[in-house]
Amino acid sequence: VLTVGVDLGGTNIQALVLDEERTLGTSRMKTPAQGDKTLVLDVLAAAVHAALGDAEHEIEEVAAVGIGTPGVVIEGTVGGATNVPGWYDRFGLAELAHDKLGVPVRLANDVTAAAVGEHHAGAGRGTDHLLVIFVGTGVGAGLILNGQPYEGGVGGAGEFGHTVVVQGGAVCPCGRRGCVEAYAGRRAMAFAAERAVAAGRHTILFDVQRELGRARPTSAVFKEALDRGDDLAADLIDQAISALGVGVASAVNLLDVDAVVVGGGLADRVGDAFLVRLEAAMRPSLFLQPPRVRLATAQLGDLAGALGAALLARDLAGA
Ligand SMILES: [Zn+2]
Repeated sequence: VLTVGVDLGGTNIQALVLDEERTLGTSRMKTPAQGDKTLVLDVLAAAVHAALGDAEHEIEEVAAVGIGTPGVVIEGTVGGATNVPGWYDRFGLAELAHDKLGVPVRLANDVTAAAVGEHHAGAGRGTDHLLVIFVGTGVGAGLILNGQPYEGGVGGAGEFGHTVVVQGGAVCPCGRRGCVEAYAGRRAMAFAAERAVAAGRHTILFDVQRELGRARPTSAVFKEALDRGDDLAADLIDQAISALGVGVASAVNLLDVDAVVVGGGLADRVGDAFLVRLEAAMRPSLFLQPPRVRLATAQLGDLAGALGAALLARDLAGA
């Protein structure tokens, strides 16, 4: 069965053609930074056709297309995403994409799709119960329970970034307080750094940012400042790992997953040391002793989402 998976991100749209266990072709295009949903859909369709061109197949041979998208996915509709133009107000993406591509479309949250990819072919292989966390601009998660993606009652599961670890704590980009993302999301960490500087604290973070030619303090900027002994970078990373530790431990206490896979900018940059420190931060809050959960770093990089979406499309293809 031939399916195509699309990973729609705030920066890139990636597509992948999957035949049984083989990736036959891929493509990558820039997500429009401006415009409306029609423009994004055009680029999405172009990415699908480019991947099929790379695979030397036609859209008529495709059984279904899977799309991993930011936002909350409810029965073929998506809404609430702020990093893709036109994606905030809820609309019927599955139907629009179906009309445009001429094949059935399966929608999923982007992190759920990435979790399906890591479960099938990455760091989560061989587990029945898996939590996959991506620590990037925000903090997202996908769940595999009993071997199947768990999307919740209406598709809102996996909002690990907005589980609360500090009652009445720091303001989160979602507007609430004390969420994991308020401490571990890069956007929130950058705001915290700006506030610290405004309060008179010294840091080389923003010098490093200019040196590396970045528009904002990226994971690479935080890592470089940390390596150069910057106290503020060290403190913010400590707080991020501590919040993640409490959050992951609470999720493990609730779900007893076999493994937690961690990916995304900061985790990738800091590497194995990140996992060691996360494990230490989790330990005091874990209920089951000795802890049986395995921690691992994500293996598939940015192709996990497109692969997972292609696998999810098989649901529709009846394969
Ligand atoms: Zn939040």
